[in-house]
Amino acid sequence: MEFTAEAARLKRLSAAAPANAPLPVITPAPVAAATPASAALPVVETFHSLQGEGLHAGRSAFFIRLAGCTVGCAWCDTKHSWPEIAHPQRTLSALAAEARAAQEAGAAFVVITGGEPLHHDLAPLCSALRQAIPSPAQVDTGAGGGLPRPWALHLETSGVDPLSGRFDWITLSPKRHRPPREELLAACQELKVVVEAEADLFFAEAMALQAVQAPALLLQPAWDSPRGQELAIAFVRRHPAWRLSLQTHKWLGVR
Ligand code: SF4
Repeated sequence: MEFTAEAARLKRLSAAAPANAPLPVITPAPVAAATPASAALPVVETFHSLQGEGLHAGRSAFFIRLAGCTVGCAWCDTKHSWPEIAHPQRTLSALAAEARAAQEAGAAFVVITGGEPLHHDLAPLCSALRQAIPSPAQVDTGAGGGLPRPWALHLETSGVDPLSGRFDWITLSPKRHRPPREELLAACQELKVVVEAEADLFFAEAMALQAVQAPALLLQPAWDSPRGQELAIAFVRRHPAWRLSLQTHKWLGVR
């Protein structure tokens, strides 16, 4: 608690007490502990699959879905991820070990998703992942001796919180009812806007104008929204800078 807030709390307590009353026993307000680098994070699930959507759709990826989201999108398909408390804490070292195993099994990158992953400080998790994974030069390129397989950290976020951690690829999926922070608009490589209504198209264009790095521009119809599909397809047809993103994993019925 900040000093001024604590001072105001003490002032309120003393003002409320009668003049001859014994002095109240003041219990200090709890001080928030700093997050240790070794902290665990609440995790909904981890799994090795194919990236289903966006520019990297179809590629082998290891997913870490963190719990906790207060953004409250009506069409959210991962509402079970919202309450942090409903999901177990997993240590960063355990997550990094799983990512390493997934890399050895073929995953090309890790996707940190949620929930809203940036509700958490992601710097310790990124460090743990980078320490656990060999650099591309150390990676076995396979019998064909092809190009070194790049190993990268991807983030999928709505952008409502400050950026933490170091990522190679940021997918910003901004929400009309909770616009993103400028720093995420500046940092993202991919801007993916979910379309359900016409207003989402205006919002998508406004976001693209503010995204200074010229990210890839994608419209993704909300799942089970024929209107969203119709609008997104018609828009992309008229705007060549944009492309359609489909949730291919859902169409295929895979995770
Ligand atoms: S930000 Fe993502 S997880 Fe949170 S409510 Fe919106 S769609 Fe769901």
